[in-house]
Amino acid sequence: MLRLTNTLTGTLETFEPADGKTVRMYVCGPTVHDYAHIGNFRTFVLEDVLRRHLKSKGWDLLHVMNVTDVDDKIIAKARERGLDIRAYTERYVRSFLEDSDALGIERPEMLVRATDHVPEMAALVATLLEKGHAYRDGESVYFRVSGFPEYGRLARLDGKDLKPGARVDVDEYGKESPRDFVLWKAPKHDDEPRWETAVGVGRPGWHLECSAMAMKYLGPAFDLHCGGVDLVFPHHTNEIAQSEAATGRTFVRFWIHVEHLKVEGQKMAKSLGNFYRLRDLLERGFSPQAIRYLYVSVPYRKQLNFTFAGLEQAAHSMDRIREFLFRLRTGRLPERSTEAMTAAFHQARERFEQGMDDDLNTALALAAMFDLIRRANTGLDADELGRDLRGDIEKWFVEIDRRLGIVPSDEDDGVSSVRDREVAALVEARNAARRSRDFERADSVRRQLSDMGVVVEDTPDGTRWRYR
Ligand code: AMP
Ligand code: ZN
Repeated sequence: MLRLTNTLTGTLETFEPADGKTVRMYVCGPTVHDYAHIGNFRTFVLEDVLRRHLKSKGWDLLHVMNVTDVDDKIIAKARERGLDIRAYTERYVRSFLEDSDALGIERPEMLVRATDHVPEMAALVATLLEKGHAYRDGESVYFRVSGFPEYGRLARLDGKDLKPGARVDVDEYGKESPRDFVLWKAPKHDDEPRWETAVGVGRPGWHLECSAMAMKYLGPAFDLHCGGVDLVFPHHTNEIAQSEAATGRTFVRFWIHVEHLKVEGQKMAKSLGNFYRLRDLLERGFSPQAIRYLYVSVPYRKQLNFTFAGLEQAAHSMDRIREFLFRLRTGRLPERSTEAMTAAFHQARERFEQGMDDDLNTALALAAMFDLIRRANTGLDADELGRDLRGDIEKWFVEIDRRLGIVPSDEDDGVSSVRDREVAALVEARNAARRSRDFERADSVRRQLSDMGVVVEDTPDGTRWRYR
């Protein structure tokens, strides 16, 4: 039974799709004014883990992600470069997809661009105007917050003064009330991108796109909506207001919000010199999988404090997984496992699922996996783990990888983990000593390898080694 913290109620609730079959889910995608940063990808990776967990429950998924390819920043930057917004954003859409692939993020069923849905957005504005939930000021259109008494429930605003959040529109437009927000913007400059639509000439406000696209593909009421915590207000608050005022239905049943990533305890900012994109970390020699591992190691409702030491730790943890799997695969095992060993394996598998079902507690899930690794390593030392369990454990790690995407591949089997690299270097040192007929040194290296549990065999095809 999967339980998730629903921002709408502030409580842990049992989640199931409304029709018992297909999860209809919308996530706010990237704003493609620049490359996505490692904070953005924390949210996207956790959404991917949620997606994979939902599928593991046997539900079908209809997962829609938008790409915000028109907003004030995009317009300003495109103008600086002398490009139209489509040409300007193309590179960032592409790099977003490349980075997502590198991080093992599954593609949503639908990836949709705001600029391809302007008529749908205009239609929504027209409905809101018709129903008296919106009003015009010149060519611009605003949402009338006073006409929607439930406004702010998601953010628990309770009529509190609304302080503009990071992405509140700061343009100087005439509004009836400071709480009202823009639905449709009249062009400010001659060279600004504009659309001629049923509600006039101009461009959509930011919040409008997600309502229009979500309802187009998922219907007026759907199961799940996700994003980073910064989106609770105003973005998601306004999405709810627009959609529900237009349809009279509850827009979304479950709202899930991912806490932010900070760097060394601080908000990431170019001005602080602590701003990283995925490629910045890859250039420093980290693998995308280690970065994904770091994301997964912290439950989504906790802030993630990014440090390079933490990232190294993540890489090291993956080496431990790789080492274990190599040992499991290549070790000489007795035929049967002890009962205690078999029980430990089943328990670990159960605890993994319990952790995932407990508000997607990925830290608990990983802890269950590492408990098994520890226990199984001891079991391998003591001949308690037999061939009857080998295949099951291997299969479980395939399942863990399907769910979390953090199990290292064994393409570079034997020389991939820290320990394996060490062994390979020692084997090479022994061969070098033998070539120079320094047999004393060769023997001492061989003893060192033997102490590490490594058996070295000299064959006509060269030296082979394996763990005992
Ligand atoms: P944006 O490209 O700014 O529209 O953001 C894309 C996604 O990243 C949204 O779900 C944001 O809430 C999320 N996000 C932005 N900054 C961070 C951060 N520092 N940590 C985690 N998620 C973030
Ligand atoms: Zn959105």
